[in-house]
Order: sequence, then structure tokens, then C-alpha cells
Amino acid sequence: MLLDHQGRLRRAAERTAEAGLAGVIVTPGPDLLYLVGYDPPQLERLTALVVRPMGDPILIVPDLERPRALASPLGDLLEIATWSDGAEPYGLVRSALRPPEGSARFGISDRTWASHVIALQRELPHAGLEPASSVLAPLRARKDPGEIRLLARAASAADHAYGRIRRTGIAGRTESEVASMLARHLVEAGHDSTAFVIVASGPNGSSPHHEPAGRIIDARDPVVLDFGGRIGGYCSDMTRTVTVGDAPEEVQEIHGIVRRAQAAAFDAVGPGVPAEDVDRAARTVIEDHGYGEWFIHRTGHGIGLEEHEPPYIVRGNREPLQPGMTFSVEPGIYLPERFGVRIEDIVVVTEDGVEVLNQAPRELARIG
Ligand code: ZN
Ligand code: ZN
Ligand code: ZN
Repeated sequence: MLLDHQGRLRRAAERTAEAGLAGVIVTPGPDLLYLVGYDPPQLERLTALVVRPMGDPILIVPDLERPRALASPLGDLLEIATWSDGAEPYGLVRSALRPPEGSARFGISDRTWASHVIALQRELPHAGLEPASSVLAPLRARKDPGEIRLLARAASAADHAYGRIRRTGIAGRTESEVASMLARHLVEAGHDSTAFVIVASGPNGSSPHHEPAGRIIDARDPVVLDFGGRIGGYCSDMTRTVTVGDAPEEVQEIHGIVRRAQAAAFDAVGPGVPAEDVDRAARTVIEDHGYGEWFIHRTGHGIGLEEHEPPYIVRGNREPLQPGMTFSVEPGIYLPERFGVRIEDIVVVTEDGVEVLNQAPRELARIG
């Protein structure tokens, strides 16, 4: 097995015990994919993995999903209990949890549908439910070598997609055309699928999550390209700001500041460093140049099976970085109604510093 699901299940059970929880209910989504390699959609029919501090985990699936569950890596890992249409699955969860007498606390996946949460609350009237991320986020945040390999492959595929768009050119095309080209390049470069593409030209660049639309990319426009896909479930996410033709001096200057801010953040990364210090490093450079109020978001977010996950590189997060953590470093400056500049790369915390997974050049590229 490429990924160590057995070890993950064991550590999840240990952490469940340490957190004083009587069990954790994991529903479809990144938690389930992480623990057992099974990724069905979240549906009105309940699928739930029950992790217990003592005893083996149990997967509860609808009868008709059983063949699919067995075909996944968890087939040889777990006991499976099924329920049929017309029956109530929530009682099965209760018996799998074996709730102690009196009150108890359980974790439940952050992304579980409210309809399931409410039904489970009725079934376990004396239980307190809390987000499973309290147990699972610290496990998921430290990537093992297999996960880092997938993130590195995704980063390098994103680098290639960027290289292709630079050679093809974007002038005279609409943002949406460029977005679909990039989406194709992402898959052709090795991603299993495209996750998102932002193409924000000229004044649209001042909105960090601009939705690409009909604006035609013009000469001298700075253009923010932010895109990512997935390989084996793991995400890429990179941003480059380019210009069509010669960049106005102001754009060059601001790009230089953002680049220095990013470099300062890279330098700040290392084991034991509080996450907020990395944000501070980038922000200080931008503030010193007088653009502090236009750096309107945190410096980065963790990345793995989700595009955005802990650790968040943000003021107030004192959590010390640990080897194996992976996150984006993406400072930006956004001048309302004029333009924006952002540069984003994915880094991994190593035993003695940092490794940047993206290799694509970071200079302000001039493309046709
Ligand atoms: Zn974003
Ligand atoms: Zn991004
Ligand atoms: Zn990002």
C-alpha cells in the first residue's frame, strides 16, 4: 500500500483517546479519504466510519455501496456494517460507538451534512458533538513522504501548465478563454482533474478570487493567474502575475515588493516557528513600502487533500510549524479598481528549514 492507512487509523484512535473523546464519526470527504482511502460522495444515505479509542474501527455503509467500499483500499482494513433502504442507519452508529453510561463527547467530521448531525444528536441525546478536526487536523497537517511526493508532483504539473500558457500567450483573449486553456493544460500536465482557475486582468485583479468572465485581455494589462488541480487527491495551487506587453513602472515596482515579501516569508519558515511569524515576515515588507492596507488577506493556507486546510498562516496563529507541514505562501497587493499582484507557491517545512515545491520562475513575465 502506497499510503499508510493502517498507521493513520491507529494514530486517529490514539488521538481520540488523548482528546478524551468516546469516538469519532467520520463521514465522506477528506477525513475519510485520508484515513482509509475511500472517497464516496456525501449523500442523504449515511456512510460513516466509526473510530473508537479502544477496539477496531467500523465502516457503516448503505447496502448498495458495499461493493464500491470493498473495492477501495479499505477493503482489507476494516469491518463493514451495512444498512438497507427503509432502515435507520443512526442506531447502527450508536451501537458501533457503544456510548458509555451518562454523558460523553464525540467528534464528527467538520463537513458532515446537518441532516446527519441532527439525526445523530437525536440518537445520542446525552452526547456532546464536536468537530473531528480537533483530532484529525493535527494528523492531516503533517504530511508523510508519500503525501509530499504527490504534492510535489501536483506542484510540478502546475509549473508546466504555467509554462505552456506563457508560450501560448493570452493577449486578445477573454479571461474565460484563458481559464479554459489553463484548465486543459493542468490536466495535460498530469493532474487527474482541474480544481479551479482564476484569471483576473487589469482592474479585475484587485479582487483576489475574481471569477473569470468576458473581459478581453489588453495590452499592458497585469493579469493574475491562480490555478490548481489534483493528483491522487492532493492539490496544487499556484499564482503568477504576468503582463501583456511592457509593464507600467508602477506594476513592476509593486510586483518587486510582493516578490520580496514572499522571499521574506520563505526565509521565515522553519520547524518551531509560529505560523503567524511567516505572515508577519511577508506583511512587514509590504507595510514598509506603504501598501500594508492593500494586502487584504492572510499570507497562506495549508494544502493537502483540501485546497485550504490547517495550518493557516495568519496573524494570531501561534501554532508552531512542524516538519511535514505544507502550505501556500501567497502575499499580494490589491489596488481597488486598478490592478492586483499576487505570487503563490507551495512550501513544505523540513527538519531544518523549508523546501519550495514550485519551480516556475517568479519574475513578472511579459507574455504575448
Ligand atoms: Zn485564494
Ligand atoms: Zn491560489
Ligand atoms: Zn492559495
